Amino acid sequence: MTELKGYMGRVLMVDLTNQTFSDFPWTDEDRKRTLGGKIMAADILLNHIKPGMKAFDEDNWIVVTTGPLTGCGCPNTARFNISTVSPLTEIVTSSNCGGDFGFMLKRAGFDAVIFTGRSEKPVTVHITEHDVEFQNAEELWGLTTGETQEKLIHYKGRLVIGPAGENKVLYACVFSNERTAGRGGVGAVFGDKKLKAVTAFGTKIPEKTKPEKLKTLNRKWTEVLQKHPLTGRQLPKLGTAGLIAPMQAHSILATKNFSAGRFDGFEKVSGEVLAENHLVSNGACTGCVIRCARRVNVDGKIVKGPELETLDCSARIFSTTILKRYLNGITSLTSLVWILFPLQAPSLLQWSLPKKAFMISVCDSAKRTISPQCLRILLTAAARGIISLTARSVWQRNSAARNMR
Ligand code: SF4
Repeated sequence: MTELKGYMGRVLMVDLTNQTFSDFPWTDEDRKRTLGGKIMAADILLNHIKPGMKAFDEDNWIVVTTGPLTGCGCPNTARFNISTVSPLTEIVTSSNCGGDFGFMLKRAGFDAVIFTGRSEKPVTVHITEHDVEFQNAEELWGLTTGETQEKLIHYKGRLVIGPAGENKVLYACVFSNERTAGRGGVGAVFGDKKLKAVTAFGTKIPEKTKPEKLKTLNRKWTEVLQKHPLTGRQLPKLGTAGLIAPMQAHSILATKNFSAGRFDGFEKVSGEVLAENHLVSNGACTGCVIRCARRVNVDGKIVKGPELETLDCSARIFSTTILKRYLNGITSLTSLVWILFPLQAPSLLQWSLPKKAFMISVCDSAKRTISPQCLRILLTAAARGIISLTARSVWQRNSAARNMR
């Protein structure tokens, strides 16, 4: 319980190994000391992590936190934080996500939830204000994030992983609705714990110190956001694709691995053109007044997006491809860079690329995370002498990484 307004006063601890749950001790002193979800999670992990702990150790925790404004009716405060030891860096990561899970977790009566241990079989955890239920998720295992959420359509506050998380891909994401916790490979830790999905639902509302004053402040803050050129016009009207034209104007539109900052034909994927030709409706995370998300019509099919990162350099929209099914915006971008690099490599290498660094990095990534298709392209490029892949490079890279740790 808590004396502080804005909080629900409970942190849920879910033991996946034994499929039990309990309250994690978290006092008002702790709350005062760690304002905001990210700091709270960092503090919890700081006191738990032992030297040398790895992301896929059973003892690694996943800490999902909200902040004191979440669920209080304040605009744009439904976002939540996921922290854990990252499989990419083996240090603590923090990934921020929209969607509705954070809002619903608070409605279920919890400020945060901590997942510990590892389930033997795939599991879904349903959190409500009355109970925590563990459900076998074997029939969900293998489904994409979209398919999983469709299967859980009757549940609110969904948090799910897809095949990337299940297979512990080091940059795997976690989805809540169409929004993504895409940093640090938090999805891989979910997969390691066989945690396929979490849902949260409830009707509880945090207490407020001065509800009327808060309402007035919320109205004012909403007005500020709606009058601002970026949050009131550009993002709602054009989405993140609205950044294409200003980036072109300032010569910072990353083109051909940023060997150029301008792209001829940028108009075809500018926010303005997409809004005019494809936009069907806007979408939003719970409680957001900006509403930057979009649904677009591509060849008669209504799909989400695109975001700035998923607009490709041949001026088309990725709609129903593998990229859309399996990757979030930033990861799509990274994958495209990997795929296109060998094709552009000859001119780029002449330009000023640090060759050795690239070769080493290709080897390391190829060994650990890259898809078979992309690996095939890289190997073809190597066979044609465009790039170089050597076992020695892998060894050097790994030694360097070990030395850095
Ligand atoms: S809809 Fe866009 S602006 Fe609003 S919270 Fe979600 S990501 Fe942020």
